[in-house]
Amino acid sequence: MLSEMNYSDSSKILNVLTKEYGCIGILSKGCRNLKSKLRGASRKLLYGTFHFYYKEKGLSTLISIDVIQSYSKTLMNLKNVVYASFILDFVKQVAGQCEERALLELSVAALNKIEEGMDPVVITNSLELKFLSFLGVSPNLDCCAVCGRTDHIVSVSPTAGGLVCSSCYQQDGYYSEKAIQLLRMYYYVDIEKISKISVHSDVNQEINRFLEDYYDRYTGIYLKSKKVLQNVSLMVNENNT
Ligand SMILES: [Zn+2]
Repeated sequence: MLSEMNYSDSSKILNVLTKEYGCIGILSKGCRNLKSKLRGASRKLLYGTFHFYYKEKGLSTLISIDVIQSYSKTLMNLKNVVYASFILDFVKQVAGQCEERALLELSVAALNKIEEGMDPVVITNSLELKFLSFLGVSPNLDCCAVCGRTDHIVSVSPTAGGLVCSSCYQQDGYYSEKAIQLLRMYYYVDIEKISKISVHSDVNQEINRFLEDYYDRYTGIYLKSKKVLQNVSLMVNENNT
């Protein structure tokens, strides 16, 4: 469930990404009543099997939800909550621009990894890179995006659309070897296979700089909560040290 919105005195409209119909609105009637069976499960982030009366135009009506994952560990940790919320908002925007069926599967895999305790920054960045191919704007991370050579790669450039070699490098922002390595890993490695890695915050910043610039340039998606996200995660990190 990507988002929820109160509706009338006791109901909610749920925005749900489904395997069969993409992103749809489902009315959860009376779910804000204390006695409602739908009360506990009518909340965003929840992953489950939704039973509902489908309406092609307008709102579908919820019957029940079999919960598969409620992400209870994620909800206990502020940083994870913030990142999970960002992912939901981000997925909603991407779902508005493409009808890729793997969107749901990949989003669930990412949220599951955060639930398992993986670094939410790594998981979010990986999702951001993988979704670029759904949006039809894959970066070229195999060879120089300008001339095609595979050796003497010195940086990566959102303007060029991927890696750049020493002859094509235009001084448009420098990216370290580590950042380039991680961008490739996030793009190619299955989210399920990402294990615990620790990434220095400077490198995370480089990767986010690349992603923000790339999304701005080639997609209509504005990573709006991203700045808030970075501030919160800085705050949380400071409190932990
Ligand atoms: Zn080149």
